Amino acid sequence: MLKKELNIFTFNNLLNHFPNRHVDKTKVSFINEINFQTDYIQVAGKLTSVEVLGEKHAKRLVAYVQDKTGILELVWFQGINWIKKYLVEGNTYLLFGKTSFFNGKPQMVHPEIEVFTNEKSEGKAFLEPIYPTTEKLKAKGLSGRQIAKLTYALLSQLQAKDIEENLPDEILKHLQLMPRYAAYKTVHFPSNNNEYEAAIKRLKFEELFIAQVRLNLIKLQRHSSSKGVVFEKVGEFFNSFYNNHLPFQLTNAQKRVLKEIRTDTAKGHQMNRLLQGDVGSGKTIVALLCMLLAADNNYQSCLMAPTEILAQQHFQSLSSLVKEMNIEIRLLTGSTKTKERKEILQGLLNDTIHFVVGTHAVIEEVVQFKNLGLVIVDEQHRFGVAQRAALWKKANIPPHILVMTATPIPRTLAMTAYGDLDYSIMDELPPGRQPITTVHRNEMQRHKVMEFIKTEITKGRQAYIIYPLIEESEKLNYEDLMQGYEQVKSYFPEPQYLISMVHGKMPAEQKETNMQRFVNGKTQIMVSTTVIEVGVNVPNASVMVIESAEKFGLSQLHQLRGRVGRGSEKSFCILLTSSKVSVDAKERISVMCATNDGFKIAEKDLELRGPGDIEGTRQSGALNFKLASIINDKPLLELAKHEAEKLLQEDADLNMAKNLQLKLFLQQQKGKTNWSKIS
Ligand code: ADP
Ligand code: MG
Repeated sequence: MLKKELNIFTFNNLLNHFPNRHVDKTKVSFINEINFQTDYIQVAGKLTSVEVLGEKHAKRLVAYVQDKTGILELVWFQGINWIKKYLVEGNTYLLFGKTSFFNGKPQMVHPEIEVFTNEKSEGKAFLEPIYPTTEKLKAKGLSGRQIAKLTYALLSQLQAKDIEENLPDEILKHLQLMPRYAAYKTVHFPSNNNEYEAAIKRLKFEELFIAQVRLNLIKLQRHSSSKGVVFEKVGEFFNSFYNNHLPFQLTNAQKRVLKEIRTDTAKGHQMNRLLQGDVGSGKTIVALLCMLLAADNNYQSCLMAPTEILAQQHFQSLSSLVKEMNIEIRLLTGSTKTKERKEILQGLLNDTIHFVVGTHAVIEEVVQFKNLGLVIVDEQHRFGVAQRAALWKKANIPPHILVMTATPIPRTLAMTAYGDLDYSIMDELPPGRQPITTVHRNEMQRHKVMEFIKTEITKGRQAYIIYPLIEESEKLNYEDLMQGYEQVKSYFPEPQYLISMVHGKMPAEQKETNMQRFVNGKTQIMVSTTVIEVGVNVPNASVMVIESAEKFGLSQLHQLRGRVGRGSEKSFCILLTSSKVSVDAKERISVMCATNDGFKIAEKDLELRGPGDIEGTRQSGALNFKLASIINDKPLLELAKHEAEKLLQEDADLNMAKNLQLKLFLQQQKGKTNWSKIS
């Protein structure tokens, strides 16, 4: 029963089934203190009536108790006969339980009940743990209180040696942390709140610290034992591009990141790096420079994009950047024609192709390289295990991997979910960008919004109008978009205005043509679903209208907004919503209107949604903390990271005597989580 309901299999599980909270059972409250906020409470009162009501499924035992301040209703649905025998009218009982209101009157369902004796309220402070339980368990008599009894019994059998310390003494002393054994005892049965806080802090720290040690160990192992191709020199390709073809000066952030990558790829171990940069920070050019570096060292590179449109666009912009150089670059996607595909496959195998740009089609098994040295994954957070494994088959020595994020990830999340990766940040936008002005408008103001687009078009600018994807129904999406398209057309009649439309169900070729017309400035308006969400770069576009903006998440809104403000013109993002939006949506919209900083937005997103929902982290396993929260325990997480790094710097193999307990603990835990899953 415990197994099925709460996943408790062993004593160890039971010890790690932590109480939600504690209540002071010496405190007896008055009935009139119960209000809508009251959760658990203890009261005492005289039993005034008991009766069985209802039949069959609706059968229940209802009783009333009264103290000098009010009346409380008690209800039981189970164990009716047994409880009824126990209750005697006129006696005073002590009741503990969760309260609710029924028809405006306070009620306690299945309270814990005992005959009231005065000594209870005079005893010394005693905090009783309240454990999470399920209704099913409660019905079987395994209430939180029963769990408390089991845990108490278990703990009284255990000695310090049974719950061995796993943190080094030095850290315990330095951070004044409670020893492990004491912490377990205390977290279940504290004698006061301060003690409890100290115990919980110790256990949270342990959780975070162990995770940090693990992630850092993975990173260190990659650095020390994985073989990697060596990009030892900066040669002709890189230099000639840098000196003759680079269309602008690199930002300091771009320079710094390039340097980090250069150092990392010269060392002889495989690079596995996450490049975090805000939307528009200029990641593509960094990618290109890395690819040139690979070419200088006689290695091929591949750049993977999440969508066909983006792959197409990357191919075009990279091709034109290197067109005066002796670089062979090709595009490979799902819709590449058979003949051309054959040619490309041949070229990759012969090493006549330097760069291949594509969708995930690039890592299909049939694609074989002569000399693959670098894989860049654009606009994604993660590069899954299966995909990484696919790369193994393409080269003897695994190629370097650079993953470029779609939008920033909060720092704490990056530290935990991606802590095993090397990590670069681009926190600077190219010069001359004007901040995008974001406003919120509702349907009633649509006409004005369209007029505004007109004035921008008159100035020579272009505009996006985006419709949400409705996950449940493709048909609805299509209808929604078509309706929108018709409406836009009525505001912007041909031939004065020309409109492109792109959506997910369109054949790739048509998508491409429509996109191209917008990129080349032939059309002034792009009506689309979120297929253009990531990466697309049309610097002349200055207006982004997002229809039904309340349906989008924060990072998606930020990504979409990032499609404008890419040139030197002032740009605008207009979030259109219905006149009524939920509190959460309002919050998202106000965050969007308040800041353009993707790192700030990412923090807010994490706060609003919690870590489980953030894209790409669900399967990571690195976030399954029982006690710690990466939202509420930031300082402790920073501390744990710092201590873990310090320790491993001194003793990377955990060979020192003082780190032995930690080493043993990690070995015991091995296999419980599949850490190799993290790529
Ligand atoms: P993202 O990081 O979102 O992928 P891109 O690489 O698409 O950004 O770059 C956005 C725009 O900024 C492009 O038009 C690119 O040419 C331009 N850009 C990139 N770096 C610089 C720079 N250092 N100076 C000026 N413009 C730049
Ligand atoms: Mg990009």
